[in-house]
Amino acid sequence: MSSWLEPRCWDGAGPPGDDLRGDVQLEKTSAAGLGRGIPEDLAELSEVVEIVARPERSVMDVVIIGSGPAGLTAAVYCARANLEPLVLEGELSSTGDQPGGQLMLTTEVENYPGFPDGVLGPVLMAQMRAQAERFGAQLIPAKVTRAKLQNGGPHIVWYRDPATGEELEVEARVVILAMGARSLMLGLPKERELLGHGVSTCATCDGFFFRGQHIAVIGGGDSALEEAVFLSRFAESVTVVHRRGELRASKIMQDRALANPKVKLAWHSVATEVLGEAKVEGLKLRDVRTGKQSLLEVTGVFIAIGHVPNTDLLRDQVRLDPDGYVLTQAGTTATSTEGVFAAGDLADRRYRQAVTAAGTGCMAALDAERWLEERQRPASAP
Ligand code: NAP
Repeated sequence: MSSWLEPRCWDGAGPPGDDLRGDVQLEKTSAAGLGRGIPEDLAELSEVVEIVARPERSVMDVVIIGSGPAGLTAAVYCARANLEPLVLEGELSSTGDQPGGQLMLTTEVENYPGFPDGVLGPVLMAQMRAQAERFGAQLIPAKVTRAKLQNGGPHIVWYRDPATGEELEVEARVVILAMGARSLMLGLPKERELLGHGVSTCATCDGFFFRGQHIAVIGGGDSALEEAVFLSRFAESVTVVHRRGELRASKIMQDRALANPKVKLAWHSVATEVLGEAKVEGLKLRDVRTGKQSLLEVTGVFIAIGHVPNTDLLRDQVRLDPDGYVLTQAGTTATSTEGVFAAGDLADRRYRQAVTAAGTGCMAALDAERWLEERQRPASAP
């Protein structure tokens, strides 16, 4: 049995032209030290084993697209229900939709239940992957290029062979969508390198690590102000850096933030550079009206300029809201297309936590199982 710690294509064997996000993350993992029940011999990380690109069958009961907590939890449940799911994991990328999802871009995760000492994001995902594989899920590190999802199925999903780039096709009775969402980033040099080392896109996840520090939050919407208020519980000061002189956030959120003595506003300001080599040591700002540069002495930078769900390939396939989030029927993971279920951040603009994604992954698997069972039962059966 292989695991994520014996990656199939995570050591530079990714598709041509891709970056080495996998390498970066693995370096981070090794630098931070494992020692949480994971094999300690990191030499095996450089081993590249053969990529299995084709599913074992040409028609699958369940194809899961995405391999964050939602996709892998769905895989564990489907596999344990003998549905032999195929997981199309995604391919190496630095945009937040890589195999393993957004937790691959974090270091310590302290709010996932069951880990009293915390767990490294990539390690948690490796564990989930191994668990899915143990029960018979087949996982292919490939990106889905297009999909034809039709009411009642069968559905057809195309993906890129991770080794050759050739487009392959698989048919599925049920599809579980779990491609997640990605945080919008500013595109500054070093921003991605320092992600998990002072730069963060999740205050709930990382705020605790900034106790007593001076930090910045970029953005002027509800997320930015909510994060600023949340972060003020830990930080010595929180400076909200906003590019205009007027906030986009709701009135109530503005009142709450502006009344907080630890929260300050840097109006009409944009971040131009994140300073620091191994960790954040400051943020350069520019006043958009005067062009004047200044230095903000912070050790944390939270980017809260919005999220986008990874749903581009679903246009005209399932109903999406105006921002591209998948719409599901209340209380279930069923989408507008019969036999297609959605789990995790691509259907959740509110909670966006690993544990909530895992929870909806479980729901999607149970919904899928029930859906398949109902269609197998003879019409006369109760
Ligand atoms: P948002 O409302 O789209 O706000 C994004 C903010 O980031 C805006 O202030 C925008 O500036 C700024 N921004 C965007 N791109 C930028 C860039 N490149 N450089 C600098 N600043 C940039 O996103 P959000 O705050 O994540 O909220 C998304 C949705 O979720 C909203 O509908 C919000 O109400 C909702 N939400 C609700 C709650 C709550 O009710 N508790 C909490 C969080 C989010 P401009 O204003 O200049 O465009």
